[in-house]
Amino acid sequence: MQLIHDFFVNMMIILALLFIYYQFFKEENLAPTSSLKRKFLSGLYAGIIGVFLMIYSIQVDATTIVDLRHIPLLLVTLYGGPVPGVIALIVIQITRFIIGMNLSSFVSLGLLTSLYIGYLLFREWKIGIFIKALWMLLYSNLVFSILIVYLLLDIKSLFSEINVLFWLTSTVTGVMALYTTEHLRKINHLFKEYKKSATIDPLTGLNNVRSFDEALNRAIQETSTNDEKPLSLLVIDIDHFKNVNDTYGHASGDTVLTQFGKTLRSAARLNDIVSRNGGEEFTILLGDCTNREALEIGERVRSMIEENSFAINKDISIHITASLGASTFPETVSSPAQLYREADEALYHAKRSGRNRICSNEQTMKVYEY
Ligand code: GH3
Ligand code: MG
Ligand code: MG
Repeated sequence: MQLIHDFFVNMMIILALLFIYYQFFKEENLAPTSSLKRKFLSGLYAGIIGVFLMIYSIQVDATTIVDLRHIPLLLVTLYGGPVPGVIALIVIQITRFIIGMNLSSFVSLGLLTSLYIGYLLFREWKIGIFIKALWMLLYSNLVFSILIVYLLLDIKSLFSEINVLFWLTSTVTGVMALYTTEHLRKINHLFKEYKKSATIDPLTGLNNVRSFDEALNRAIQETSTNDEKPLSLLVIDIDHFKNVNDTYGHASGDTVLTQFGKTLRSAARLNDIVSRNGGEEFTILLGDCTNREALEIGERVRSMIEENSFAINKDISIHITASLGASTFPETVSSPAQLYREADEALYHAKRSGRNRICSNEQTMKVYEY
């Protein structure tokens, strides 16, 4: 009964501490490419899990205990590589020496070190991570059994209670810990992707319309509290884009849109907010920018687009043009909330008056000629 109790406690310790770890590190899963700090912290954390497992070890009989300290070592080495692995190993082993300097603490050192080296070798194996982890678990059990036989000098000890129990608890807890880890990593990954897709347009990597709205609202708020700084907006629409799709296909149209996004990004200033607002319509939100400056930046964008050639494939490149509408608070609109509508109207005017140009929405709707 005590055995089942201990076993259950160990399993819960691992699962609970894994959950807490993944709450701490939601943003990025541990990987060989992670920062040194992240690897160090993960190794430390795995070491602490190992220490907990030692403290709550499983009582087999009056003189024998087993624990599952190899499982956090396995996980952190599997996902993070040698650095977090060795940190976990050091934390566990130092604690073991503090608990008592005796034969079994040196046996623990030998056992953990050989497991660690084995885990590193298994890491190189190019197979699925779950299967690899199962092999690592099997390897851990085998090393433990070899050690038992060696220490007791009796092959029959393979069937001893301690060995059988080790295999059982290590396998069941290890599989559960692995499954939980994989699940939590997947959730973290999806969470990150979801957050990204909520703000970024996947085709161009620019802001999507949602983050454009947020940025515009934020800028409007800032402008109303500090109205010395003008705020400008450019709305940009590709001319006759339908022809590109009709001639080269929708996929090629997408390729052009991706390159178009890059062109806008390189034409805009560093802090300008460049967004794809939908289809082939884009915006650039220009903070602390007068109408004159907005028209200059807009003209730079227009001429860069006109001069650039957009690759459809490695043999065909095309030329496109775009029309732009500009508006500025407080010069052309009396309230920043009108920026978008006015810039859109100016764009409409640019289209009407021949395309491939920029218009500002001053009352006269002058075409900005160079
Ligand atoms: P105008 O100069 O008046 O803007 O002409 P236009 O052909 O660009 O304008 P229109 O609004 O008639 O058509 C826009 C086209 O953009 C229609 C649609 O097929 C295409 N489009 C919109 N979104 C996407 C997209 O995500 N990918 C591709 N490839 N095409 C798109
Ligand atoms: Mg268009
Ligand atoms: Mg359009």
